[in-house]
Amino acid sequence: MDKISRLTPFLSVSPQVTETDLGIIAAQGFKSIISNRPDGESEDQPSAADLAAAAERNGLDFRHVPVVSGKVTDHDVGDFTAALSEMRGPALAFCRTGARSCTLWALSEAHHLDPDAILSTTAAAGYELDALRPRLETRWRTEQIAGASGTVVPMQRMPTVAPYDVVVVGGGSAGIATASSLLRRRPSLSIAIVEPRDRHYYQPGWTLVGGGVFDRAKTERAMADVMPEGVRWIRAAVAGFEPEHNEVVLEDGERLAYRTLVAAPGIKLDWTGVEGLKETLGRNGVTSNYLFEMAPYTWELVQATRGGQALFTQPPMPIKCAGAPQKAMYLACDHWRRSGVLGDIDVSFNTATPVLFGVKDFVPSLMAYVERYGIELCVNANLKAIDGPARKAWFTVKDADGAIETVEKSFDMIHVCPPQTAPDFVRRSPLADKAGWIEVSPETLQHVRYGNIFGLGDACSAPNAKTAAAARKQAPVVAENVLSVLDAQGPRAIYDGYGSCPLTVERGKIVLAEFGYGGKLLPTFPFINAKKPSRLAWLLKEKLLPPIYWDLMLRGHEWLAAPERLPHEPGAHAAQEACDYTEPGKAKRA
Ligand code: FAD
Repeated sequence: MDKISRLTPFLSVSPQVTETDLGIIAAQGFKSIISNRPDGESEDQPSAADLAAAAERNGLDFRHVPVVSGKVTDHDVGDFTAALSEMRGPALAFCRTGARSCTLWALSEAHHLDPDAILSTTAAAGYELDALRPRLETRWRTEQIAGASGTVVPMQRMPTVAPYDVVVVGGGSAGIATASSLLRRRPSLSIAIVEPRDRHYYQPGWTLVGGGVFDRAKTERAMADVMPEGVRWIRAAVAGFEPEHNEVVLEDGERLAYRTLVAAPGIKLDWTGVEGLKETLGRNGVTSNYLFEMAPYTWELVQATRGGQALFTQPPMPIKCAGAPQKAMYLACDHWRRSGVLGDIDVSFNTATPVLFGVKDFVPSLMAYVERYGIELCVNANLKAIDGPARKAWFTVKDADGAIETVEKSFDMIHVCPPQTAPDFVRRSPLADKAGWIEVSPETLQHVRYGNIFGLGDACSAPNAKTAAAARKQAPVVAENVLSVLDAQGPRAIYDGYGSCPLTVERGKIVLAEFGYGGKLLPTFPFINAKKPSRLAWLLKEKLLPPIYWDLMLRGHEWLAAPERLPHEPGAHAAQEACDYTEPGKAKRA
């Protein structure tokens, strides 16, 4: 579990806790737990009801005092203070990172502790809340004057410190690679990366974990170890964008000012988008390689399945790594074939899309494997509900005339790829397009309305395949263009839509799908026949791509990823018009 920081003998704070952490917390002597997160804030978060039940089992008092990220109101502070006064100590309060809980404590103490004392206590606990100072001072002064507690102090916009040259939102594949590429070009830049997690994941490895090839530990590193030297890591979550002020708002209300912004917060896995899924995931034969914790369960199930029904599902596009749902299936079938049980298992691939794979050049090779493994291919079939204990799943299926019916299927095991959307705080922000993605020019990755903002990775609107391979090529493009904007010039680096999906059709062979905008084939290695299964491509995936990711991409070594540049002459390229420079924070177009 994450680090617990003591604020007072009565109260400690920590990032998100899980149901299994509560036993350890009780053993450490805590008597009470306060959750400050609203339910459903992120996909990997246990519900307050589940935590309350787990707390009761461990003899802990539990209170849910949810606080909206970025908006700690005086009312919230009142609720928090009231909860603390009624609970047994020592108590542990948590939110996503601990920052909101820390903020609540700081504001609850502001009537009798001076701001310096409060801020040095929070800093010693690992939470820099300097932006809270004006609010703490107002409370402190008001108390001194009024001589009474409980005075309501209105929320106010807090002044910010000097802007960073670059603020990066998200320390995933795209965010870390971009920051590293920027620093390689200009080490003097001041860069802050806002990232709430303390672990960084190599998600492309999860397919191999689910296929019994990798240990999951190989796909995880401490976030601190991948943070580029020279950046400031702000361990918090962004709650909102204020592009007109050149600021992002953190979930504790603090603001960060920037000259340029790089937004790369990834995609949201919507586990609630399939009724009953969240409740049964990880049990009853229901698994998904889309979670670090769950991928080993896929391999457990594959090994345990000797007959019956095996379902694999794929939601509507876009999703990250559109090939991953199929990859899980082919590796499972290959294991069953080698174990001599494939003939006893009915395997079906249920995809909400009308075709097996979006780029037609790769379909014949994949269809050959569908036939070889005897897989039933069900297109236009969208998983809607699941009942784990009853081992049943329901799909809406659209026929050729557009008529929709609900089809029930039984399963012994089911691998689910969840529906995916842009993160909520992006969808409701001024950066979003109609579908919720960060609206960027597909070529320059510059925001279409705010000239000093760039978006890349899974959260951006560019119509490429959402993959780490795409982020590897996008990061140098964004790095070049951010520097151009900081130098008051128009962006010149161009992204061609490259993405890659190594389709693991059997253990030891891969169809290496590499393509750009419009499905144009963009093979990196001329000696690998991209349309056919290849052993060399498997070696690349298993042995070379992990070190390329950790040691090159995340460190700004742009191997085979040098960006194409526009010529200087205006009008020389169709994309030039979209690249015209505007003042930071000013809308590019009306
Ligand atoms: P991520 O790497 O997901 O990072 C987003 C970061 O933003 C996270 O660290 C998150 O904590 C942070 N964040 C979220 N919300 C906030 C907030 N409010 N404030 C601040 N930070 C926030 N790609 C390939 O190239 N090849 C493959 O073979 C492949 N296989 C895959 C298999 C599976 C099972 C999966 C799940 C993915 C696979 N991918 C593959 C896809 C690849 O992992 C993603 O496309 C890539 O990680 C996207 O990078 P990103 O930086 O946009 O998002």
